[in-house]
Amino acid sequence: MPHFPLLLSPITLGAVTLRNRSLMGSMHTGLEETGDWGRVAAFYAARARGGAGLIVTGGMAPNREGGVFPGAAGLFSDRDIANHRRVTDAVHAEGGHIAMQILHAGRYAYSRDCVGPSAMKSPISPFPPRALDEDGIERQIADIATAAARAIEAGYDGVEVMGSEGYFLNQFLVTHTNRRTDAWGGSQANRMRLPVEVVRRVRVAMGPAAVLVYRISLIDLVPDGSTWDEVVVLARAIEAAGASCLNTGIGWHESRVPTIATSVPRAAFVHLTARLRPEVSIPVITSNRINRPEVAERLLSEGAADMVSMARPWLADAEFIAKAAAGRAPEIAPCIACNQACLDHTFSGKLTSCLVNPRACHETELLYRPAAAVKRVAVVGAGPAGMMAAIVAGQRGHSVTLFDRAAEIGGQLNLAKQVPGKEEFHGLIDWFATLLLRAPQITLRLGHAAKAEDLAGFDVVVVATGVTPRDPGIPTEAGANVLSYADVLKGAPVGRRVAVVGAGGIGFDVAATLVHAGVSPTLDAGVWRAEWGVAAPWDAPGGLVPDGPKPHPPAREVHLLQRKAEQPGRHLGKTTGWIHRAHLTMKRVRMLGGVRYDRITTEGIWLNRGARSELLAVDAVVLCAGQEPERTLSTELERRGIPHHRIGGADVAAELDAKRAIDQAAPGRKALGAARHGHPRPLRQPPEAAGAVITPLSSAACSSAVSTAPSAFASMPLKPSSLRSVQTA
Ligand code: NAP
Ligand code: SF4
Repeated sequence: MPHFPLLLSPITLGAVTLRNRSLMGSMHTGLEETGDWGRVAAFYAARARGGAGLIVTGGMAPNREGGVFPGAAGLFSDRDIANHRRVTDAVHAEGGHIAMQILHAGRYAYSRDCVGPSAMKSPISPFPPRALDEDGIERQIADIATAAARAIEAGYDGVEVMGSEGYFLNQFLVTHTNRRTDAWGGSQANRMRLPVEVVRRVRVAMGPAAVLVYRISLIDLVPDGSTWDEVVVLARAIEAAGASCLNTGIGWHESRVPTIATSVPRAAFVHLTARLRPEVSIPVITSNRINRPEVAERLLSEGAADMVSMARPWLADAEFIAKAAAGRAPEIAPCIACNQACLDHTFSGKLTSCLVNPRACHETELLYRPAAAVKRVAVVGAGPAGMMAAIVAGQRGHSVTLFDRAAEIGGQLNLAKQVPGKEEFHGLIDWFATLLLRAPQITLRLGHAAKAEDLAGFDVVVVATGVTPRDPGIPTEAGANVLSYADVLKGAPVGRRVAVVGAGGIGFDVAATLVHAGVSPTLDAGVWRAEWGVAAPWDAPGGLVPDGPKPHPPAREVHLLQRKAEQPGRHLGKTTGWIHRAHLTMKRVRMLGGVRYDRITTEGIWLNRGARSELLAVDAVVLCAGQEPERTLSTELERRGIPHHRIGGADVAAELDAKRAIDQAAPGRKALGAARHGHPRPLRQPPEAAGAVITPLSSAACSSAVSTAPSAFASMPLKPSSLRSVQTA
């Protein structure tokens, strides 16, 4: 029986037959803006080699005003064609197909030159758009069609026209943003005139053979969004205008509903694609939070779609389909939808990469070459840093022994997986286990606390002993109920009222765990939709429940505390922090900054927020005050003069997360000298953005306000739910 027979079966779009039904969704990596097109080509070629059926590039602007930010990559002139040709040649040489996404940002463009249907500023952008006149609209259409023609000249197999996520074409579609009274506004026929005309002209520009993917918004998740009937009418008109297939878009960027974060249930929006599919005769592609071939195969077998789009999973593993086809699915590195190294990087002005695959976007510079001389390597600590160090050393041919005093691998990941909404961490640990167990070079010694004497005879010793919780040193009365975050995540009883000391990532996770009861919404799409106020678009326009979210009441009263006098959670992930803050707000967690901890007694915790100490009466106090490096072994090795390398939390605990731990371990650069050539070049800083004065964004409307602009990306709207043209699912 072949593996994943439906996913791996060919499909024909227009005149192009794809080798399988996987689409690598559009992602903005930042590579194009480095100007190093060899690197861009290497990134896409690796995914073509890894079996992607159809690759869609990051969004390319059709003109200057349509760019997501000033200086965004595009295909503006014939000069750009040679650069893009390097990419298409590299993909075709690997047997793949590639379409260029044409992305016009409209009022989402981070630019004073942005344009839109009406002069209505978006809540996630500082710049009001200029309302286009007839000539202006015609020029945008012409520029999009010209970009499509250039794409074909550059060797692309077709284009994807970005018509969703609240970008330019989507902005014309709904009265939320289109208040025109001319022939481009008012009735649905007028509002959909622009996307339909764009598709018609793009088809003419490309000719009949090329693939034309239209990204259609199936659920806007904003007020005054499209009704389902309007979606169906548009889909049919787009088909008639010449599209080869419809790809799924979910939610506008300004929506307050998460659509791709790890807490979103897998395949949470597939029912929409399934409903659209019988309404048209062209293939329909489903997307969002699909990260395993088993899920993709099931969706195809259920008839929910003709193809499956995955984007971030192709960052996590460039060999996604090749491994699935070879019966090696458990070896596919799982995208855990954390955004930490992809979208968070994008919005910090850094190159995209991946938490589980630091080689993503570094294909030409981070190379795991076979070792010139095989060494005996001891790695102590089977957390993310230690596991990754062992795996890479093993892949390079070294003989590795991985020690951990615990009986199971995973370290802190075993705590993370207990947090409701972080179920994907189970899959991450499973993946590490698969690689460790399948590598003949790696010996696991679990349940063994390695001592200095165990490490004699190894050529290389890597200490990845992780972290210990920081004791904040708050005076504590005997008998007071004080717990560590680890106790709580392992299920220690806490009572009805809890104070959490420390509002970093772990404080938020602990608070989320404490307010939760019953099934995790991430594992039950119905519960999740009720929590976030998501309706079926056939019941409510735009898919928003009219009277708002209905979260389950909190399981207990939780107070989340920090000393800094700022909004708790400000330093969480750039593109996910707003979700954690919104979630705890929904669960009525009281978040308090600017507190001083005087003492903990059997009655609760005494806090000082001004002149006097006040009791916050609670049943338990949970310490989430950061971590310190665990260096007992390292210190002993130093005392004995045994050389070793410290990585992960044992090296630097501050702001340690799995991304940094894995990144530090993967190159093995400290310990084993794997090659990392060069340094990522920063994204170009557009002159317009430097020092731009940005109107503070409404905190209700945007995930995070940025008041100065070190780079265009760093200051872009941070509702990240998708920036999926920017990056999808
Ligand atoms: P963290 O992010 O450094 O937060 C530590 C918290 O403890 C801060 O709120 C800090 O705030 C407080 N604190 C520090 N020293 C203290 C002291 N002596 N007394 C009292 N309070 C003190 O560390 P973490 O929460 O342990 O997280 C570790 C890493 O994992 C971080 O990099 C984090 O980003 C990552 N992580 C992220 C997520 C997520 O994004 N969802 C989830 C889990 C972990 P004050 O100093 O203002 O009191
Ligand atoms: Fe997926 Fe996280 Fe990697 Fe992004 S960084 S691709 S979300 S695992």
